[in-house]
Amino acid sequence: MRFDILTIFPGMFDSYCNESMVKRAKAKGIIEIAIHDIRKFSAERHGKVDAIPYGGGPGMVMTPQPLYDAIMHAKTLNKGPVIYMSPRGKLLTHKKAQKLAKGGVSRKGKNKQAPGLILVCGRYEGIDQRVIDLCIDEELSIGKYVLTGGELAALVVLDAVSRFVPEFIGKHESTVEESYSEALGGKKEYPHYTRPPVFMDLEVPEVLQSGHHAKIKEWRKKKLT
Ligand code: SAM
Repeated sequence: MRFDILTIFPGMFDSYCNESMVKRAKAKGIIEIAIHDIRKFSAERHGKVDAIPYGGGPGMVMTPQPLYDAIMHAKTLNKGPVIYMSPRGKLLTHKKAQKLAKGGVSRKGKNKQAPGLILVCGRYEGIDQRVIDLCIDEELSIGKYVLTGGELAALVVLDAVSRFVPEFIGKHESTVEESYSEALGGKKEYPHYTRPPVFMDLEVPEVLQSGHHAKIKEWRKKKLT
């Protein structure tokens, strides 16, 4: 699956995209990530990408031209939907991440087969509405709070969606039985314990140490919330 991420802070992705599971998945060709610097698409001097808002008010707004051109460029590389990370968007959920990994969405039923996503990161007060009207298939929020920029939100989407890309998760992990999954009836997962059996006077529940699979299954089911 391919991710094209549009940002004015490309360096912010260096660390996360080059560590752990994401690094491994990239090396194996399971996912592909391209970071695009929106400033490079600016027709203005010094790569300017913002201006004061019409109607007044505090803060700046990202101008349409650099964003539009950056999105058009990304669309030549990625047939997936264009998603604007926004606190006004639909909330990202387990189901939504699963759907996006299958190339699902989007407005007007386009791009149903596309195993890719184009993620647009806003800054300042956000982006010019005309870019949303012209090229955004969907607005997606990672929570009911406001971040300084869309970069962290895009990384959250990248991570949550990648987990559902076949082979992203290693053999000893699974996305099947996890919090919010269908297998757990959409509930939150049971607690986990590992060695040692006693830590700071707290003992691992006896049933988990018993090796009695049916009873363990029952205990775990009861612990779902
Ligand atoms: N003025 C906007 C508002 O009140 O809705 C907030 C803009 S925010 C400071 C700058 C950028 O951060 C947004 O354009 C968006 O890309 C990103 N962002 C902030 N909060 C977010 C959230 N909860 N989910 C996804 N993206 C978010």
